[in-house]
Amino acid sequence: MTGPLSHPPLSPTAPPPAASPLVDRFARTISYLRLSVIDRCDLRCTYCMPERQTFLPKAEVLTLEELHQLALGFIARGVRKLRLTGGEPLVRRDMMELVRVLGRQLEPGGGLEELTLTTNATRLAEFAEGLHAAGVRRVNVSLDTLDRANFARIARRDSLPQVLEGIAAAQAAGLSVKLNTVALKGINEDEIPDLIGWAHGRGMEITLIEVMPLGEVDEDRFDHYLPLSAVRERLERRWTLTPDAHRSGGPARYVNVAETGGRLGFITPLTNNFCDGCNRIRITATGQLYPCLGGHEQVDLRGALRSADPEAALAQALDLAMHIKPERHHFAIGKAGEAPHLPRHMSMTGG
Ligand code: SAM
Ligand code: SF4
Repeated sequence: MTGPLSHPPLSPTAPPPAASPLVDRFARTISYLRLSVIDRCDLRCTYCMPERQTFLPKAEVLTLEELHQLALGFIARGVRKLRLTGGEPLVRRDMMELVRVLGRQLEPGGGLEELTLTTNATRLAEFAEGLHAAGVRRVNVSLDTLDRANFARIARRDSLPQVLEGIAAAQAAGLSVKLNTVALKGINEDEIPDLIGWAHGRGMEITLIEVMPLGEVDEDRFDHYLPLSAVRERLERRWTLTPDAHRSGGPARYVNVAETGGRLGFITPLTNNFCDGCNRIRITATGQLYPCLGGHEQVDLRGALRSADPEAALAQALDLAMHIKPERHHFAIGKAGEAPHLPRHMSMTGG
């Protein structure tokens, strides 16, 4: 049931009852699940996937029923925050059906506190109102530039107008929008202050992300790796940044920008100063559970779901996941020409 790497042997003690909370060997309680609902995407961001990405055959992707069953299983074991991601979640045809059925878990007694989405926003204009009606209150939108030509270069698709329309529609529908921006040396680094000012001027939080070594892409990611320490230094020459104690249980650290009045996050995944408080796990669209974004450990939940006794197999698989969740991640950005450290793409694990 596990991936290629060995892991510590399971303790011989009896497994906890099915509804026990998810607590790993380092006493971290898992309350946040990122569930990828599809590996496909309508964009081809250069740092994320190659132009000719091979997508999975449909039979390998979890069905709507399986995604629902999985989510309910996790909620029963204490997951309170569920983020749907991809690939691009809004290109999955039955996506809104899933959102609606999971939205019911937000009702009193349902167990879920927050249902969110990470999206590239190309189709957000169409779905924003439906998302809000289903109980979604916040969405994360990935946006690396406000320049149409640069967007087309980064995403390999000329979709900036649709994305901006999607963001506006989300705000109009009452969704709070947070932007995620991958900082890319020589590509969008000079635009970062404008992007921050634009986001804050429209009441959006924005978080900058360092490029991570996940999966083969056409370009050499090392060429565009931009340490956020350098970005922060440049921003501090222009603005007053005051640390903000806000924590999301993930790698982001926040500051407030006095001049714009907004909050700015920095995600530096190549450091591991956040692992101690990690509260999250990720599942790919094929049902592979990755206890750590930066680790090789994995557990096959699709096999459990498609077994003769899914409930028992799932409970056992989740116990195993808690047992093998590593204490810290093992990211390292490869030097030019080296293979990326982890073979899977972010479009599999969903970021
Ligand atoms: N398609 C949706 C989107 O772009 O928001 C959801 C999935 S995407 C994989 C989730 C996030 O991962 C995006 O914010 C994207 O910028 C980020 N991402 C993808 N590949 C990355 C990489 N190699 N390093 C850092 N961030 C990456
Ligand atoms: Fe698609 Fe998101 Fe990857 Fe861009 S980052 S190619 S939008 S999955």
